[in-house]
Amino acid sequence: MDIRAQVSSVFHLDKCIGCHTCSIACKNLWTDRKGAEYMWWNNVETKPGTGYPTRWEDQEQYRGGWEKAEAVLKLKLGGRGGLLGKIFYNPALPGMDDYYEPFTYKYGDLISSPAGNDQPTARPVSMVTGKPMKIEAGPNWDDDLSGSNVYAANDPGVVKLSDEEQQQMFAIEKMVMFYLPRICNHCLNAGCVASCPSGAIYKRGEDGIVLINQDKCRGWRMCVSACPYKKTYYGWTTGKSEKCILCYPRQEAGEAPACFHSCVGRIRYLGVLLYDADRIEEVALNEDRDLAAAQRDIILDPFDPQVQADARRAGIPEQVLQAARQSPVYKFVKQWGVALPLHPEFRTLPMLFYVPPMLPVISRENQGRQQLADEFFTTLEKARLPIRYLAGLFAGGNEEEVKAVYRRLIAVRMQRRSVSVGDLDAA
Ligand code: SF4
Ligand code: SF4
Repeated sequence: MDIRAQVSSVFHLDKCIGCHTCSIACKNLWTDRKGAEYMWWNNVETKPGTGYPTRWEDQEQYRGGWEKAEAVLKLKLGGRGGLLGKIFYNPALPGMDDYYEPFTYKYGDLISSPAGNDQPTARPVSMVTGKPMKIEAGPNWDDDLSGSNVYAANDPGVVKLSDEEQQQMFAIEKMVMFYLPRICNHCLNAGCVASCPSGAIYKRGEDGIVLINQDKCRGWRMCVSACPYKKTYYGWTTGKSEKCILCYPRQEAGEAPACFHSCVGRIRYLGVLLYDADRIEEVALNEDRDLAAAQRDIILDPFDPQVQADARRAGIPEQVLQAARQSPVYKFVKQWGVALPLHPEFRTLPMLFYVPPMLPVISRENQGRQQLADEFFTTLEKARLPIRYLAGLFAGGNEEEVKAVYRRLIAVRMQRRSVSVGDLDAA
């Protein structure tokens, strides 16, 4: 067994209020400079919706298809880079229109705009062309301009919704959305690492953080194609690719990453996981099993004396083993089983997990206890967000996996309600 340690995270989606403080904290620290304007190492998108860059999840139809990608990369790189050729990703790079062009936005323009029959609107001016822009994408396009929920219903990219499911989501009294904050997943089977022809991208041995060596990067941008989450970005002034570094300088100084530190909803948990690196290939290529469960299996129990002994033999320091035992990520993912990876079917083994959103139960006036209890339980079958949609996001389409998580979350909610409000039986 090849035991390694990985710094990993859990985002609890019911707690996210979509304030974007995390994105701004990251931008202020790392990407507030020329050539990096369009980069959001941390972005928060609205789901259902197009996401950032636009339709990033739609690997099949929007930009070419996965099989073609495999052929192109084999041809260009001759199978270099470990698992290359066995993971599937899209070869086409997102264009500037899929992100958004950096623009200037002046308050003065807004108040001097001509009167119209709607609110005054300042046209943003492109920093590249100097001309007013017609913006068609952005880091949270769906929230800012709304309406793409309808787009998402018609073409959600990953899951096609039936008419009944669309009604379930978009009936006016039930209109539903949630926020999905995203950073680089610091994957175990990272597509970006495998695809780099210059060998510039690497996974740090001590904590699994994925970094791009700026001295070695030659700007091939294969990593931008290869990351199915589209979490590497090309710097147009430096000619190098860049990505989230999980604020490793802050972590080395004992501080949480800036997006975690600043999170208003306190949705973010950081922790160490121990995993068996010998099993990465087997899990990544697994065709028969539930993908989220297969990924969970690779994570080792830090309380197991045998795992501890093997980890010591592998040179993992005592401090790291202690951190693994205290890890909230281990609790959410393995012990409690309520956090799932985003799109495990991409097979990069992402190390950022999400507690899926339950959304508030819609309560009615004079609702009795029994009705309220029923409401909790019917949440699962008549969920405001169709289980199939959530399974498409967090479980490679496996609805049972998502239902199991929701059963646990509903039980916790009922238990808390019985303790704090006292109008439900905990049973
Ligand atoms: Fe690489 Fe993308 Fe995974 Fe980050 S999310 S490690 S950029 S493949
Ligand atoms: Fe969500 Fe926290 Fe980011 Fe606000 S700061 S958008 S609550 S993840």
